[in-house]
Amino acid sequence: MTKNTDYMAWQVDEQNGEYEGCETLLSTKDLPEGEVLVWVSHSSLNYKDALSASGNKGVTRAFPHTPGIDAAGVVSESATGQPAVGSKVIVTGYDLGMNTPGGFGEYIRVPATWCVPMPEGWDSRTAMIYGTAGLTAGLCVQKLLTMGAKPEQGKVAVTGASGAVGSVAVEILANLGFDVVAISGKADHADALKALGAKEVLGREALSEDKKPMLKPVFANAVDTVGGIPLAELLKQVLPGGSVSICGLVAGVPLNTTVLPFILRGVNLLGVDSVEIPLADKKRVWEKLSGDWKCPNTEASAKDISRSELDSALKAFLKGESSGKIVLDHA
Ligand code: NDP
Repeated sequence: MTKNTDYMAWQVDEQNGEYEGCETLLSTKDLPEGEVLVWVSHSSLNYKDALSASGNKGVTRAFPHTPGIDAAGVVSESATGQPAVGSKVIVTGYDLGMNTPGGFGEYIRVPATWCVPMPEGWDSRTAMIYGTAGLTAGLCVQKLLTMGAKPEQGKVAVTGASGAVGSVAVEILANLGFDVVAISGKADHADALKALGAKEVLGREALSEDKKPMLKPVFANAVDTVGGIPLAELLKQVLPGGSVSICGLVAGVPLNTTVLPFILRGVNLLGVDSVEIPLADKKRVWEKLSGDWKCPNTEASAKDISRSELDSALKAFLKGESSGKIVLDHA
């Protein structure tokens, strides 16, 4: 027998063509059907949440809506018994926070197949320091390693380096012994990026548009979180046999490139999706993040915010002004 519980959520609604979020009292009876009810203590902020909160119909079709593509907390009801009531879980991706009420509310109801058991020794806040961004960074690194990337091959570039995905990618790669070149538009973040382990920090102009079809190869491998022109320029600068993991689109969706990096230098372009991949693949990376790939600097520098601070924090994402990891604490 399920009981209805009132809870607080940061819900976004449309008013005269504008989208605004505010704290709203909701009831678990209005959550969608699903096997598992999770009491969410923490969520994490992502670019996609900012898109949802600003009314982007490619992310969220109908409003009012509670964004939050990440959630961590304790199972409060479980129709299948797995995960068990009282166990801690992480839920990221699939439809959470898109068209299913997400982690910006104190409760979510989701299929059991969306729930990753909390890695041993972790709590919800730590999991949400990483969130989808950390998971995506881990998947990007994993793809490079699967392609045989090794520190001795040379520099590895990370674009959008001060962002949520980029900053975790910088720290994981640096901890694995790679010489990381962080590419960032925020000159005042150079010291913070070096503290994460970057050997060099370059401005975005390192990847500004150049008409030449190929450029001097500089990077053995790369993680690109921005797409668009910077990615096209990056591909021209990758050493023979190198790989580029790509996950993002903040600098643009079109990728205007030629076949030359691929057929003259054998460059590998590796797509990364953290949303719809099987739960087992997510679980493998979460285990890594809580173990060998732990990022102490990211953990130490994460910022906690409350629901009332979501509006300004999400707007900073849309302007490309956000940096590091931001955790939503529902307490
Ligand atoms: P953030 O906003 O935290 O970081 C993006 C960073 O990119 C910014 O901090 C900025 O870094 C840089 N940037 C912003 N605008 C531009 C621009 N116009 N040109 C060049 N660089 C720019 O976002 P996230 O790290 O959370 O996400 C990064 C991307 O990855 C997004 O597109 C997101 O949608 C995508 N993503 C994809 C996932 C997947 O499963 N494929 C999962 C998670 C995220 P700096 O100032 O340092 O240059």
